[in-house]
Amino acid sequence: MTEKLTVSVLGTGIMGAAMARNLVRAGHTVHAWNRSPAKAEPLAADGAQIAATPAEAVRDADVVLTMLYDGPAVLEVMREAVPGLRPGIVWVQSTTAGIEAVGELAGFAREHGLVFFDAPVLGTREPAEAGQLTILAAGPEQGRAAVTPVFDAVGARTLWTGEDGAAAGATRLKLVANSWVLAATNAAGEVLALAQALGVDPQSFFGLIAGGPLDMGYLHAKTALILEDRLSPASFAVATAAKDAHLIVRTGEQHGIRLDGAAATADRLTRAAAQGHADEDMAAGYFASFD
Ligand code: NAP
Repeated sequence: MTEKLTVSVLGTGIMGAAMARNLVRAGHTVHAWNRSPAKAEPLAADGAQIAATPAEAVRDADVVLTMLYDGPAVLEVMREAVPGLRPGIVWVQSTTAGIEAVGELAGFAREHGLVFFDAPVLGTREPAEAGQLTILAAGPEQGRAAVTPVFDAVGARTLWTGEDGAAAGATRLKLVANSWVLAATNAAGEVLALAQALGVDPQSFFGLIAGGPLDMGYLHAKTALILEDRLSPASFAVATAAKDAHLIVRTGEQHGIRLDGAAATADRLTRAAAQGHADEDMAAGYFASFD
């Protein structure tokens, strides 16, 4: 029988709300908090308890799950949670925060006696809603009994990268994976823009590569969002993708490499956000071709 836990979900945006719902469905007690209460309140109908502050949310927690925008947001929220934290709480940190930030967050965990898991996820809105995420996880044996039921509720697969969350092994793999996702999405938008500019029917390009090694499900998924005007609600918003692209470029620089394609993707996403597409799916980076 799976152990029933009290899980605090801090951040109920696209991903956090879906994860909170699946935790409730798995029978766990969920305390949810979000900076804008309107995004947490609908979770009450699913059976989650809505907290007014991060400190209130974490007070009875076995596990705290953070799914916020970036590293600074996580640190800010966890500082607000301090009055409710107690040593021994397991902290599953799933925000895509970057290697430096994970080091800083692990330091915060040490300071407060929390058992830290670096646990970014692969998968977007739909897999999150279906409880089919892939969790990339690094953390100590102590605490795995508590994180396993949480990972089972939100994901289909857990890929362990190591026992030291502070070393950010899971986040390293996540950044590599996201560099591929962002490059593929950007290429899908540019290929569509070029086809349109040259008067080439995109379908003739899809037909040309059909079934061969150049074909890719992701190309069809992302171009369909543009061609069928289904960019809202986003699975992964332009603004969040821009944050990750900048994070990848900076991380490359810090490790002595240039990632010119990722830098161009970051610029295009930033431009698309400035054009008014910030909250649309990252496929809307396509519009940067028409600036
Ligand atoms: P989202 O819908 O934009 O949610 C972001 C959350 O962060 C919201 O709850 C937002 O609160 C909160 N937030 C932002 N800044 C804050 C601050 N300074 N203080 C407190 N709360 C703050 O984004 P998402 O798509 O769920 O992504 C969440 C994380 O998962 C990101 O790190 C993203 O890179 C990562 N991720 C996303 C996907 C995806 O496909 N969507 C997949 C894997 C990983 P408000 O509601 O008040 O703005």
